[in-house]
Amino acid sequence: MTRFVFITGGVVSSLGKGIASAALAALLQARGYKVRMRKLDPYLNVDPGTMSPYQHGEVFITDDGAETDLDLGHYERFTGVHARRADNATTGRIYSEVIARERRGDYLGATVQVIPHITDAIKEAVVSGTDEYDFVLVEIGGTVGDIESLPFLEAIRQLRNDLGHDHTMCVHLTLLPYIPAAGELKTKPTQHSVKELQNVGIQPQMLLCRSDRPIPDNERRKIANFCNVRPQAVIAALDVDTIYACPISYNREGMDSEVLRYFGLPHDGTPDLSRWEKIVHTIREPEGEVRVAVVGKYTALLDSYKSLAEALLHGGIANNVRVKLEWIESEEFEKSADRLERLRDVDAILVPGGFGERGAEGKIDAVRFARENNIPFLGICFGMQMAVIECARSLAGLPNASSTEFGPTDEPLVGLMTEWARGSEMLRRREGGELGGTMRVGAYPAKLATGSRVAEVYGKTDIRERHRHRWEVNVHYRDVLEKTGLRFSGMSPDGILPEVVEYPDHPWFIGVQYHPELLSKPFDPHPLFSGFIKAAVEKARS
Ligand code: GLN
Repeated sequence: MTRFVFITGGVVSSLGKGIASAALAALLQARGYKVRMRKLDPYLNVDPGTMSPYQHGEVFITDDGAETDLDLGHYERFTGVHARRADNATTGRIYSEVIARERRGDYLGATVQVIPHITDAIKEAVVSGTDEYDFVLVEIGGTVGDIESLPFLEAIRQLRNDLGHDHTMCVHLTLLPYIPAAGELKTKPTQHSVKELQNVGIQPQMLLCRSDRPIPDNERRKIANFCNVRPQAVIAALDVDTIYACPISYNREGMDSEVLRYFGLPHDGTPDLSRWEKIVHTIREPEGEVRVAVVGKYTALLDSYKSLAEALLHGGIANNVRVKLEWIESEEFEKSADRLERLRDVDAILVPGGFGERGAEGKIDAVRFARENNIPFLGICFGMQMAVIECARSLAGLPNASSTEFGPTDEPLVGLMTEWARGSEMLRRREGGELGGTMRVGAYPAKLATGSRVAEVYGKTDIRERHRHRWEVNVHYRDVLEKTGLRFSGMSPDGILPEVVEYPDHPWFIGVQYHPELLSKPFDPHPLFSGFIKAAVEKARS
C-alpha cells in the first residue's frame, strides 16, 4: 500500500521546502522505492499561470499542459519523474471544482462547507492516481499558522486517520536561528511552530531543521522533548553550497533511514548516492569557467528563471565547467546602445522566454550583437521570436517587422496563434478571449531537419518538448527569411508551426519556440544546454 509523507513548513517562508522534499524523494528512490511528488498551494489562483513572475517566480509546465508551481521543477530535477497536472492543486482549483459540482446539483441539497466538502476534495486530490507508488510526498505550500493553509492541514489530519498512522507521516521543516550574542542555536521558534501544528491536530514525526551549523546534542534533545519527536528524528538541514548536495547531506543526518524506520521498512546500510556525488564534485571542482549573459526582463527576481538557471548549470556539468551567469535587464540596452559593449566579453548570450513589449527592443539588440559578433546564442520562446524579428529587420529589409503581441503591425513576423493541433484534435482561440489556460502549453512533438545543427545537437530528428506560448513565428515569412541565411530547422509535424531556427554560418546560433530548460536534469543535462555551453567553452578558448 502507498505511503504518504506530508511536508509542512514553519517559522519563516523560503526555507527551501520544495528542495528538501525533492531531496527526500531522491533518497527514497536511491533506496529502490517508486516515488511521486505533489504540491498543495494555498492561494486562490486556479493555477499560477496568470501570476506575474515577480509574484510567484517561474511557472513550471508539465507534459500534459498544466501550468504549475516552480517546486514541481525541483521535483523533476531531483527524481526524473515527470510531473502531471494532478500533482499540483491550489485552493482556487479545489474551490472551483467544488463550486462546479454544487452548481450541477451533485451535493443533493446539502449545505456545502469547508468541512467536509473542501477537505474531501483536497483528500481526493492527494490520493487520486497514486496506487502504483511506494511513496507519495506531498508538500504543503505556505507557512503553518497562515489562515490560507488551514483546510489543507485539516485534510491531512483526516487522511492520517483514513489511511492509518503506519502509512502516513508528517515532516515539518523549521529554522534554528543562530544568535551570535547568545552563541546558541535557538529552538523556540521551532517549538512554537510545532505547537501551531499540534493546535490543528497534527503531530509531526520528524523535524527537518534548517541551520547554519550542526545541532548540538543538548539542543537536539530539547527540541525532541518539547516537540514530542524522537531525538533521531530531529534532522539537521545544514546550509549547502549547491542544492544537489542536499540528498547526500540529509542521508548523513539519517533522514532516509529514520523515515523508513517509521514505516517499518528495512533501513540499514546506505543507498547508492554516486549520482549525486558525481554532480556535486563537478560543481565544486570544475576544470574551467564560462560567462553567459542572460538578457531578460525579470532579472530582479531570479526565481522567475529557476529552471533556466538550473539547466545552464547542468550544461556546465556536462562540459565540466562552471557557468557564471550575468543577468542583464534588456531595457539597459534601450537606454544606451553603448551598454551593449558589456556583451563583448561574454562567452555566450541567451535571451529567455518572456511576455509583453517592455524590454523587447533591448532583446532584439542583444540578438543582433550575438549574430554580428559570432557569439554563441540561444533564444528561447520569446527569445526565438525576437531573433526572427531581428533577422527580418536587419537582413530581410523589413524594418517594420514586429509581433502582434505588441499591437497591430504591417509586418507580423510573429502573430497570434489561432489554431493548432493537439494529437488529432484542433484547438482554437479567439482574439480577445480569456487569458488563463489559453496558450499552447505542454509537450508537443517537433521534426528537426536532417543535417541541421539542432539535429546534430539532439542526435535525432524527432523530439518532444514543452511549450508555453500564445504567439508563433509566422510561417508565411519563411522563404524571405531563409534567403538571408536563417534556416527553419525544426517544424511542428504538420509543417505549420516553426519550432527551431538557426544560422548555419554562425558558430552556434539556435532559437527554439519551446522551453528546453524544463526537461534538463543534473544527471541528464538537456542536449541544447550541453551544446550551448560547449560552444561557449570553445568561444572562451579561441
Ligand atoms: N510572449 C510570447 C508568446 O506568448 C513568448 C512566450 C514565452 O516566452 N514563454 O508567444
